[in-house]
Amino acid sequence: MGTGQDQARLTALFRRNLELCEVGPGETVAVLSEGDQLRHYAEASLAAARDLGADVEDVHLPSEGAEDPAVRIANIGQNALGRNPQAMQTCLDADMVVDHMLLLFSHEQIAMQKAGTRILLIVEPVEILERLFPTAEMRARVEAGERRLRAARSLRFTNAAGTDVTYTLGDKPILTEYGYTTEPGRWDHWPGGFLATLAAEEGVNGRVVMEADDIVFPLREFTGERIAFEIEGGRVREIGGGARAGHLRDFIEGYGDPRAYAVSHIGWGLNHRCIWRPDLPGIGMDGRAHYGNVLFSLGPDTEFGGENDTPCHLDLPMQGCSLWLDDEPIVQDGAVVPEDMRAPAN
Ligand code: FE
Repeated sequence: MGTGQDQARLTALFRRNLELCEVGPGETVAVLSEGDQLRHYAEASLAAARDLGADVEDVHLPSEGAEDPAVRIANIGQNALGRNPQAMQTCLDADMVVDHMLLLFSHEQIAMQKAGTRILLIVEPVEILERLFPTAEMRARVEAGERRLRAARSLRFTNAAGTDVTYTLGDKPILTEYGYTTEPGRWDHWPGGFLATLAAEEGVNGRVVMEADDIVFPLREFTGERIAFEIEGGRVREIGGGARAGHLRDFIEGYGDPRAYAVSHIGWGLNHRCIWRPDLPGIGMDGRAHYGNVLFSLGPDTEFGGENDTPCHLDLPMQGCSLWLDDEPIVQDGAVVPEDMRAPAN
């Protein structure tokens, strides 16, 4: 794939990130890939980690099915690692795993985190990895959000279309994504720039009304018209609207799994370099991490230590919302309010 020059550039790019991850001598980095999928990424990660003095393990699994990350993310939770115990053990034993096969939300990923392995997911196209390259500055802003979220007892968000929904917050884990990882057991994804948590059990009530220019992932499209979700006790009881709402209901029903109607994570985006477009190549971090968005989600909660591993996972980024933690405004009409969360040029 590509020329030697392209590969050298890729290795240099990955090396810059692995430096942020504090990879160095005395560490073992396992690089995970499947079939031909992103094999040039795996080779760049191996070369970059070796350059930094780490021991490397090339965990290269035979291909099983969909190669395209955009297809795979529509059906996550199943992967070849579960059928390769030796490869799995290599990952459990490593200090860090670079994941080029998309373990997201799988039992295997959770097991690695519990074993103390930190994990960085890299599956996006190079132009997106470059444009959204992580910084310590953004990490600090995401962590400022994390501190507030940890202290808060409720989260409420609204928009002009009629959204008004409240999440009762308990003690669920908080997921931060800023694009690199230095702490044992901590997962991250490059690119990132947002944070999220779950409500307490059955602790979501109200309604969410998406605007026509909000985004539906993994479908990678604008909603196209308003779609209303009536939520009671942490579950969507009704999806109302026109043809596009019907389309979304059909998509969910296609999984034949009522757990798909559970409200999943909630949070907001802090990456000011993201572009509000659903159709960019890759898995859609531009929409998910977009500065000042609210990311509403349905489906699994395994990433937050829950038991719901439904493969139907909808991420629904919304613009122009207002969001409060208890009584503190965090986002006001799509603009980030607290000083320590605001991007430099905002
Ligand atoms: Fe999600």
